[in-house]
Amino acid sequence: MKVFKFGGASVSTAERIRNVGKILRQYRGEKILVVVSAMGKTTNALEKVVTAFYEGKKDEALDLFSAVKESHNEVSAQLLGQPLSQLTDFYTEIEWLLHDRPVQSFDYYYDQIVCVGELLSSSIVSHYLTTAGVKNDWLDVRDIFRTDDNFRDARIDWTITAQKVKEQVEPLFSGFNIVLTQGFIGATDENESTTLGREGSDYSAAVFANLLNAESQTIWKDVQGVMNADPKIYSEAQWIRELNYREVIEMAFYGAQVIHPKTIKPLQNKGIPLYVKSFLHPDEEGTCIHSRQVANLPPIIVYKADQVLAQLTAKDFSFVSEGLTAEAYRILTDLKLKPNLTQNAAISLLCVLDDRSDKVEAFALKASEKFEVSVMKNLTLLTIRHYTKELVEKLTAGFEIVLQQQTPETVQMLLATKA
Ligand code: ASP
Ligand code: MG
Repeated sequence: MKVFKFGGASVSTAERIRNVGKILRQYRGEKILVVVSAMGKTTNALEKVVTAFYEGKKDEALDLFSAVKESHNEVSAQLLGQPLSQLTDFYTEIEWLLHDRPVQSFDYYYDQIVCVGELLSSSIVSHYLTTAGVKNDWLDVRDIFRTDDNFRDARIDWTITAQKVKEQVEPLFSGFNIVLTQGFIGATDENESTTLGREGSDYSAAVFANLLNAESQTIWKDVQGVMNADPKIYSEAQWIRELNYREVIEMAFYGAQVIHPKTIKPLQNKGIPLYVKSFLHPDEEGTCIHSRQVANLPPIIVYKADQVLAQLTAKDFSFVSEGLTAEAYRILTDLKLKPNLTQNAAISLLCVLDDRSDKVEAFALKASEKFEVSVMKNLTLLTIRHYTKELVEKLTAGFEIVLQQQTPETVQMLLATKA
């Protein structure tokens, strides 16, 4: 058994969906659980629908949703010659909801609405594959992935999910070689839809790989494999043939947009190799991620833009003895903020955070009850693993280094544009 994940870019147009069929045909005869993401930038578009709805702008929400419908109808018509009735059912569900007035949390509505992206794309892909002679069974993953109700970042209940995979997914493979389902989404025990965090489909695939004891997982992307830097930012980016799980976790932790960080653990726990391959060049080798040590890795460069630096200083020294850091972390945890970097000093704590304005403001406000707070914006966090002095100099030239942390393996620098 293999697990494949096709990301948004690989199913963004009718032509690309045909390409998915071409790839799957190359694996004829093999059992494959296929996870698909929402088409192209659908998740972003749906996020806008949620925002409009939550701000009480019903008409705007409906208009924005119409655009999502149109693009899906168009692709479906291109592939199947007609709109799909299954799509209409999903549309109706969302439109009913959009006619209500929001009474629950934003995150709750986010999940009820945004989950439709994966439901639509997977339906289109599944029907297309069937008409193209690639027999497959479509599965609503919300019947399988049980999660808690921590909307937008829901956690899988492994016990219940494992049982459902065993009882409801494994048997499907006696009738079909390909079972096709959605990434990113799940449901609570009350059948409310949930999502697993942005880019969560990689993780969904890994959960399946783990529970099905897959021989491998493959993520099909629009790049050659894992690169040592984002080629859009760093023109000398190079392809990496193999990496171990640990390295990938580190890269993702520092913000590399390679693979959702939660993806590795379910694979590592069962020693399942992860391939990252190009859906445009499926015959190329791609990157293999596994448990063995890999020698001679190139420097790995990760940029995280839109960072803020918050400095918390104890007002009257009182928190120094009482645990300044503990207090600051309590505030961060309450706001579900995860600092990307922290540094302790005698009477202050420095935190580097993603600039999610609402949250940073809430944090500054709450922290100012106990600390002097200052916030510096428009920063970039640069991380280099396996760094060399020359590379650090090259990449920081022209910037002011606001903060720096270094281990023998990794250097992190918070950069500001020089005034
Ligand atoms: N469609 C979701 C997103 O764009 C999940 C995923 O693609 O992995 O975040
Ligand atoms: Mg995606």
